[in-house]
Amino acid sequence: MKLLVATRSPGKVREIRELFSGLPFELTLPADLLLERLPDEADLEHSTSYTENAVAKARYFAARSGLPTVADDSGIEVEALGGRPGPHSARWAGMSGGAGASDPDRANNALLLERLADVPEARRTARYRCVVAFLATPGGAPEIVEATCDGVILTAPRGSGGFGYDPLFFSPELQMTFGEAAPAAKHRVSHRGRAFRALIEVLLRRAI
Ligand code: IMP
Repeated sequence: MKLLVATRSPGKVREIRELFSGLPFELTLPADLLLERLPDEADLEHSTSYTENAVAKARYFAARSGLPTVADDSGIEVEALGGRPGPHSARWAGMSGGAGASDPDRANNALLLERLADVPEARRTARYRCVVAFLATPGGAPEIVEATCDGVILTAPRGSGGFGYDPLFFSPELQMTFGEAAPAAKHRVSHRGRAFRALIEVLLRRAI
C-alpha cells in the first residue's frame, strides 16, 4: 500500500521510515510528489487539540495527493509548566517572542531550560504525546491512535541523536536521554514508536 506521510519534519520522517521498515507499505512524502508548501499549510496546526491538528494535516495532504495519508501531531507536556508547550511544541520559542526562526529546536530547548531554571529535579517531569491520524480517502472517517512517553527534563543537554527536545528528555526506562539513545531504543519506548506500532496493526488488519 502506498502511504503519504504528511509531514515536512526531517526528524519525524526519519523515525517514521524506521518504524515502517520491512513492512508492506511504500512511504512517500509531500516533496516526493512535488507538493510545494502553500500559504494555507501554515494554518493547519491552529488547534490546541493534537487530534484536530493531525486530522487537519491528514485531510489536507490526502486531498492534495489522492493517496491514503498518515499525519503525526505531537508535543511535549511539562508538568511544572501546566502541560505547556503541548501542541505548540514545534513553534514554542517563536510564539514566546524569542528568535527561534533559524534553529527552532535550539531556541525551544533554551527556553525550556530557562523556564525550568528554578524547578528542582523531582518536579521536572514531562511527557511526550503523539497522535496519529490515518485517512484512507480525503473525506473518510479518520483512524486515530495516541500514545505517550514519560520522562524528566535535565538541566543540560546530553547526546546529539533524535531531534527537538530529545537531548533534554531523560527516559527512566532507558536510563539515558533520547538524544543519547540509539534509534531502535528510542522507538521501543517512545510516544511515536508506540503510536505507530498501534497504527500499523490497524493498517495490517484493514488489508486482510
Ligand atoms: P508538530 O509538527 O506540530 O507535531 O510538532 C511536533 C514538535 O513536538 C516537534 O517539532 C518537537 O518540538 C516536539 N516533538 C515531538 N516529538 C518529539 C520527539 O520524538 N523528540 C523531540 N521532540 C519532539
